[in-house]
Amino acid sequence: MYQYMALPLSAVKGIGPSLEKRLHGRGIDCIGNLLLHLPLNYIDDRRVSPISLLREGESGRIEGRIISKEARGYGKDRQVWIRLADDHGQIRLNFFHAGFMMGDARLTEGRLISVRGVAERWQGQWQMTHPEWCVAEAFEPGYQPHYGALAGLSGKRIGTMIRQALLMLPATATSPLDHILMTQYRMPSLRQALLQLHQPHAADSDMLRHASSRLKSEEIILYLLLMLDKKRQADCPGILLASQRLSSELLEQLPFPLTDAQQSAWQDISADMTSGRRMHRLLQGDVGAGKTWVAALAMASVAGSGYQAALLAPTSVLASQHAITLRELLMPLGLDVALLTGSTRAAERRKILAALASGKISLVVGTHALLTDDVCFDHLALALVDEQHRFGVRQRWALAEKRKPDHQAVHLLAMTATPIPRTLALALYGDMDLSMMRGMPPGRKPIETRVISADKMRPLADGMQRMLDVDGRIYWIVPRIDEDDDGISVDQRVELLKGYFPAAGVLGLHGRMKASVKDEVLQAFASGACKILVSTTVVEVGVNIPEARLMIVEQAESYGLAQLHQLRGRVGRSSEQGYCMLIAGKQASQSSLGRLQQLVRSHDGLELAEADLAMRGSGDAIGTRQHGDAGFRLINLAGDGELIRQWYEHLPDFAADEAMLRFWRPFADSAD
Ligand code: ADP
Ligand code: MG
Repeated sequence: MYQYMALPLSAVKGIGPSLEKRLHGRGIDCIGNLLLHLPLNYIDDRRVSPISLLREGESGRIEGRIISKEARGYGKDRQVWIRLADDHGQIRLNFFHAGFMMGDARLTEGRLISVRGVAERWQGQWQMTHPEWCVAEAFEPGYQPHYGALAGLSGKRIGTMIRQALLMLPATATSPLDHILMTQYRMPSLRQALLQLHQPHAADSDMLRHASSRLKSEEIILYLLLMLDKKRQADCPGILLASQRLSSELLEQLPFPLTDAQQSAWQDISADMTSGRRMHRLLQGDVGAGKTWVAALAMASVAGSGYQAALLAPTSVLASQHAITLRELLMPLGLDVALLTGSTRAAERRKILAALASGKISLVVGTHALLTDDVCFDHLALALVDEQHRFGVRQRWALAEKRKPDHQAVHLLAMTATPIPRTLALALYGDMDLSMMRGMPPGRKPIETRVISADKMRPLADGMQRMLDVDGRIYWIVPRIDEDDDGISVDQRVELLKGYFPAAGVLGLHGRMKASVKDEVLQAFASGACKILVSTTVVEVGVNIPEARLMIVEQAESYGLAQLHQLRGRVGRSSEQGYCMLIAGKQASQSSLGRLQQLVRSHDGLELAEADLAMRGSGDAIGTRQHGDAGFRLINLAGDGELIRQWYEHLPDFAADEAMLRFWRPFADSAD
């Protein structure tokens, strides 16, 4: 089967080099990928209707004899009218730019043709414009698949290509999973499932669901097997941390006791690191749940045992924030934390690298700059990866692989605020153990959230002034860096807000600024020299400024709910009430306003993530998937949770072949 699935598109009749290239652009580079473009729905095309019983505005199938054919106009623009009659009535078929039809022998007077199109009434007569047609003998009644457009090609065109591609699958083609799934689970074979979905004999919804589950099972089982394999690889002896001296000291010095959730996560982690096996754990907790303290405890315990720990963060803003927080927590214990980012000066960088290599520095925080080859450790024991979904699997491992050949494996602690239900997370991150932190540190009030329209600048400015009066700070999020037609850019908003609030030290922040400038801006915001920060979503991840109490998001409808929840998590990080204003763009639809209202009602990241997923629907457009979907092509995390769970609990024991792996997980080694 996979031998055929892997064939290039050019092997399909009717796909030439330029079409092939276009489809490549959408990530469709072999026959199998094309076959994953499933129909959106099916048209019941079993019955031929008399012309007189057509319904206006509805699609119908008719059959009739051609009684006349005429052309109007000249050349390319020629319009062709064909008059058709059955026993009960007549209809006119209109074809534009269709001069070529005049010479088609199948369309001569007296011939019987079969037609499907949308019936229209015009001047008391029936007509159809650009209907599908064929000679009457060629019509096969049944269910016609209806495809979504792809790469600028109409659904009809895609359907034709898929039909051709299906012709190439030999009747004997099998998948390595067919046997188990057919005998033990009574599922169709992979080939049957593909045929049932693309060319159903009946639009029997049970049958279609069954076929679709079969196809998805192929994908999920393979993924789970890969995860299991990674888990086996990860399981090996690890460095044993002998001393809990510094972590105990830190526990005593923390300004507040750990929450129950933090406590149990920390227990998991310290048990791992004193077990003699390597830790490979994911720490999941909503924004603001307090993951940083848990990370600090782990780092203190490593340093106290005479080893080194490194924390990897996706942005330099976040890395420097972590450095500040960790220094505050760990300096009193006599530990220093180095910071290494892309903007660390050459001399400073050399100094840090030497100190890491000699073991003089035991703790370091940084960005991708930590991953380059010249960064060496004396004895690394723990790699921490914050916001791990921002990194590929390979990067996640890269830090942990910075050990000397004769040293034992490095412990890995990945952290994420991406909320996924536990059983799903277990399946999706099956290569890691899981610690989930539920709930927030005490005293946190839910952030008061409102959806407002774009023309309410005056009352909004009044609200902002009240916030400034009590020394609160304000985030203002814009969707873009650059100026463009909508006129919403960081710089423009900075100018506008300076006009309203000349004394507030308004500053702008975006991802394309030099890291050192970004850091200066964030410092100013943290110290209060700047009270209003205009930013793109670079602040989304992790930044922690407790005085920030008002979050304003422009064009809020252009973000996912989970992302807005993350943004909102930047405020209300103290016992003071936090607020979030979601400004809907002028073009926002009713349904997107309704979607935003969910943020007013819900403060549960998990619930919002599920709503997000459900809304994204089961669109099967390959190539439009987002990060965080674990790179699935058919699986939809919201709708297919049951299926994922089922296979997680009863994973069939079988050996995937190379072609199958390559087809479903082409990037398995690089990034997921
Ligand atoms: P996240 O899980 O999103 O990384 P942080 O670690 O940034 O969250 O913590 C959010 C805020 O909660 C910080 O200001 C931190 O000081 C505070 N915090 C963390 N743990 C506790 C606790 N046990 N009690 C009170 N405040 C806490
Ligand atoms: Mg964090």
